[in-house]
Amino acid sequence: MSISFWLDQSSSASKNYDFVIVGGGIAGLSTAFWLQKKDPTLKIAIIEKHRVGFGASGRNAGFVTAGSTEHYIKLNETYGTEKATNIWRFSEINRHLLLEHVIEDAADELDFRHTGSCTVAPSEQHWEKYKTTAKLMREQGIDVHEVSPAEMEADYGITGFIGGIQYTGDGYIHPFKLLQRLRSKLKVDFIEGQEVFDIDDSSSQVKIRTDRDTFTAGKLLVTVNAYLPLVLKKFQGVVVPGRGQILVTEPLPFFVKGPCYLTKHLCYFRQLPTGHLLIGGFRNLATQQEETYADNTTPVIQEALLNFVRSHFRLGKEARVAYQWSGIMGYSPDGQMIIGEVPERKNIHVIAGCSGHGMGLSFHAAKTLVDSVYGTKVPDHLSIARIKF
Ligand SMILES: Cc1cc2nc3c(=O)[nH]c(=O)nc-3n(C[C@H](O)[C@H](O)[C@H](O)COP(=O)(O)OP(=O)(O)OC[C@H]3O[C@@H](n4cnc5c(N)ncnc54)[C@H](O)[C@@H]3O)c2cc1C
Repeated sequence: MSISFWLDQSSSASKNYDFVIVGGGIAGLSTAFWLQKKDPTLKIAIIEKHRVGFGASGRNAGFVTAGSTEHYIKLNETYGTEKATNIWRFSEINRHLLLEHVIEDAADELDFRHTGSCTVAPSEQHWEKYKTTAKLMREQGIDVHEVSPAEMEADYGITGFIGGIQYTGDGYIHPFKLLQRLRSKLKVDFIEGQEVFDIDDSSSQVKIRTDRDTFTAGKLLVTVNAYLPLVLKKFQGVVVPGRGQILVTEPLPFFVKGPCYLTKHLCYFRQLPTGHLLIGGFRNLATQQEETYADNTTPVIQEALLNFVRSHFRLGKEARVAYQWSGIMGYSPDGQMIIGEVPERKNIHVIAGCSGHGMGLSFHAAKTLVDSVYGTKVPDHLSIARIKF
């Protein structure tokens, strides 16, 4: 993007802040929250190109989860059991921090339910692997147990699968209400409807230009997730966009107890407190097309989502579509978030790459970012130091 002489409305006195945060999603708001906690006198601005929550944070499925059994399997294969468990615990702490500092006594208001989650086994082979993993997880103190096909049908209304692994810690929430509550706790300037297109860190203050104005800050924290390569070119090929699509049916009688993952189709579902059935995923049907910043749904994925509802849910045969939407996730090379000060830049820090798990990670990750700004080391698996630019 560029801006013409005529459109530039920057006044000669640029607006100065201790911290400017770019991106008004869960990561940006959480970052402001932890900064404010560190020092309530800080002058902070959040610049958001649309409006707060317009990115993935206002478009996700609202799972507040540590992940699926498959996720633990991958972590265990990559990092070994101790580190895999620590990474899992990072999400558990995220949930505890959200409950303590944001959700508090407003669980009903925010549609927060502590239901547990279930990973559905699509084949005998998966089921055997899941059972072995569940045993390992239990040995690490993670509260998982097996769910039989009959329980799957009774608790989740789903048929045609061999069984599942339930993890008791997880839950779900109304993601936008969560953002609104977080926002109500912030005493910061919200600058909405302005897109950051230029960052100049050649002097001691970072100069931030938007399509309408100029700001300066002691430190700039970029929390735009998938959009990071568009703001800082260094991240091209490091953070990659991935579109996710969701379908919500008209309300159905209650039959799904909590969030479920079916990782064969990268598919997930839950029922809202209103009875609407939410289902998302099937990116594996069009992996290349879904590597995009375009915010639109596609027939191939939406049809797969609806077919799944009609063929696998006892009460889904006559389901009618109420909403369809998409949102953009940001993927890092190893699937873990990237947190820290950008190498070879001055006073610019980032948090990005939370893939499909920002609700389960970002509040804690933002605390990690803020702590690192004040000198605490970021855990190795999240640190920007591991990234090869
Ligand atoms: C369909 C879908 C379902 C998902 N389901 C879940 C789920 O159930 N549970 C879960 O944990 N996670 C889920 N996720 C992932 C989760 O939503 C994200 O990981 C999380 O919202 C990322 O938050 P964020 O604040 O980092 O980014 P975002 O919410 O994307 O916020 C970034 C913001 O930056 C703004 N921005 C970008 N560029 C600029 C610029 N140049 N200037 C100013 N502002 C800019 C954008 O407008 C945007 O609002 C899902 C994602 C999708 C798409």
